Amino acid sequence: MSTIFSIVAPIYNEIGNIPEFYRRVREVMRSIDASWELVLVDDGSTDGSTESIRELAAQDKHVRPVIFARNFGHQIAITAGWDYSRGKAVIIIDADLQDPPEVIPELVAKWREGYEVVYAVRARREGESWFKIFSASLFYRLIYRITDIKIPLDSGDFRLLDRKVVDVLKTMHERHRFPRGMAAWVGFRQIGVEYHRAVRFSGETKYPFKKMLRLALNAITGFSYFPLQVATLFGFVSAGISILTIPVVIIMRMTGAQAFLGQATTLIAVLFLGGVQLISLGILGEYVGRLYDEAKGRPLYIVRDEPKE
Ligand code: UDP
Ligand code: MG
Repeated sequence: MSTIFSIVAPIYNEIGNIPEFYRRVREVMRSIDASWELVLVDDGSTDGSTESIRELAAQDKHVRPVIFARNFGHQIAITAGWDYSRGKAVIIIDADLQDPPEVIPELVAKWREGYEVVYAVRARREGESWFKIFSASLFYRLIYRITDIKIPLDSGDFRLLDRKVVDVLKTMHERHRFPRGMAAWVGFRQIGVEYHRAVRFSGETKYPFKKMLRLALNAITGFSYFPLQVATLFGFVSAGISILTIPVVIIMRMTGAQAFLGQATTLIAVLFLGGVQLISLGILGEYVGRLYDEAKGRPLYIVRDEPKE
């Protein structure tokens, strides 16, 4: 019988969460009563999670382990999950139990109504620092404003995707990826389901500020040219200001007003422009670097061990 549901979970050093996560997913999937598989993508764990995943796979045929050769990052692990899943519906979920598996039946119900993407919206978040909640909230709103696609506010990667959608996503090979943006980009019939994001069951977040920043950059550069346009805008504004100041300076000279005597004014103007130019160069660099990465065309991830069947 073909698999109906694929649960995909990226795992990076989640030793304390794996048994409980597996137990709860199994409970939920039993209640749904359809064939299912659990694709566990081990993203280069070093804490024994790999062995724990292998053990589960040996005990239960539902578990299909995909073991990476090293850490490739959350987004790439999700991608491998899409690639290896065989279900008619694929559910992406974090392995740290912040996304409660008990929400899955709600996603499934919407899917059965005919929706092709059912994303889970974080109505409440618990046990995260105010900084994380604030920066995440700011991030979602910024992305919403400046990108061309409308990524649903406060939705993470926890979502159900129909097979049709997954097949489209699999043809998108971009390296610096932002899966939730990609899932919004493809279109189809989409709907949100609210849920209450729980406290991490065990361990610490694997998303330090640096990784969050990188994800934000991927999202912005992957879905908009806004930063490039900002550079143009800056150029026009500074050129405009300098042209406007020419008559002002001429008049001041002719009327004998003592202005712009010090070097400070010149220095500030030079530094300001220098700064703007360097920032623009940096923005350009972000895009060029990404272009270079894409051009190399390396595989997105390297798998050390594939699922048996
Ligand atoms: N994760 C991963 N690779 C990474 C970082 C994280 O596969 O490089 C997994 C992690 O094990 C978890 C999920 O991605 O299942 C979400 O990570 P985390 O809970 O640390 O992020 P947060 O919920 O704090 O945003
Ligand atoms: Mg988490």
